[in-house]
Amino acid sequence: MSDFSNKLIDWYSVNKRALPWRETTDPYLIWISEIILQQTRVVQGYDYFIRFVERFPTVKSLAEADEDEVMKYWQGLGYYSRARNLHTAAKSILGDFPKSYDEILSLKGVGEYTASAICSFAYNLPYAVVDGNVYRVLSRYLGIDTPIDSTQGKKLFASLAAELLDKSNPGIYNQAIMDFGAIQCIPSSPDCNVCPLVDSCIAFAEKLTRVLPVKQGKTKSSNRYFNYIYVRMGAYTFINKRSGNDIWKNLFELPLIETEHLLSEEEFYALPQFQQLFTSGEEPMIRCLERNVKHVLSHRIIITNFYEVVLSEHSKSFSNYKKVAIKDIDQFAVSRLIHLFLEKYL
Ligand code: SF4
Repeated sequence: MSDFSNKLIDWYSVNKRALPWRETTDPYLIWISEIILQQTRVVQGYDYFIRFVERFPTVKSLAEADEDEVMKYWQGLGYYSRARNLHTAAKSILGDFPKSYDEILSLKGVGEYTASAICSFAYNLPYAVVDGNVYRVLSRYLGIDTPIDSTQGKKLFASLAAELLDKSNPGIYNQAIMDFGAIQCIPSSPDCNVCPLVDSCIAFAEKLTRVLPVKQGKTKSSNRYFNYIYVRMGAYTFINKRSGNDIWKNLFELPLIETEHLLSEEEFYALPQFQQLFTSGEEPMIRCLERNVKHVLSHRIIITNFYEVVLSEHSKSFSNYKKVAIKDIDQFAVSRLIHLFLEKYL
């Protein structure tokens, strides 16, 4: 065992976070936790994990569940393709959870990082994990300024991680380096004076902790403009399930008209797509409830206007949408944007 891994594992034995997916070697539970934590912080993911595995405690129970229910348990976590992929992958597993790296990597939504995490945590197989924490620790400790988001950087860090992996104890070593990055060698202002690696850390010696790791470029975000219509028809409203290869796929939402730019109320009311929603002769009451609501996703900002339309109880308008009782609307999985709106207005 190298000095590096020795020190990391010693540090981990004192500082390890007590998390339910760390106390198990069940590959299914580890898989669920890793997928939840891909784009979610531990504090937020914790409750979701508990609720999710209480309802779907085994691969079989997840495979047999209805997709709408799986999405409901994911509601609010974002990046909904993760839930869809989990469900698809669960259905593809016949019998026990796969035991080899290649089989695990072939599951839908599982990349190299997740496959390595499952193999090492559940089966103690010698695969090194490389996540944001590992990039940071290695680039600082070894003083490497190759951008971590470049092809060259990814290759370099993957081979360094594999080289440094403690092959006699891959599961514990991987958890140790990830926790070390999350707790000790944190992105800004790491407390190097209490770090067990300080004597051999190049970033510390050369005062590079602020500049390492290097990233080559940030993704630009672009705007999208949504106009949601909250219909009131007596005790009913209308919703729609999103489809296509787009954000929030398979989640429900209010009737939506997306536009190229933010429209004034008058421009919106004059839109043919809006007028076509109504049967001829209908005289609905229409008002704008909220303008310019900004919802930030990883690569784009959704700018939304919410409208309210009040129809007579016997109206035939919005007939292409799903009619639901307003009191039942919380049974449908919706995006956080819609959830916040409904919470405010219902
Ligand atoms: S000395 Fe500082 S920069 Fe180096 S590994 Fe420790 S915490 Fe990270």
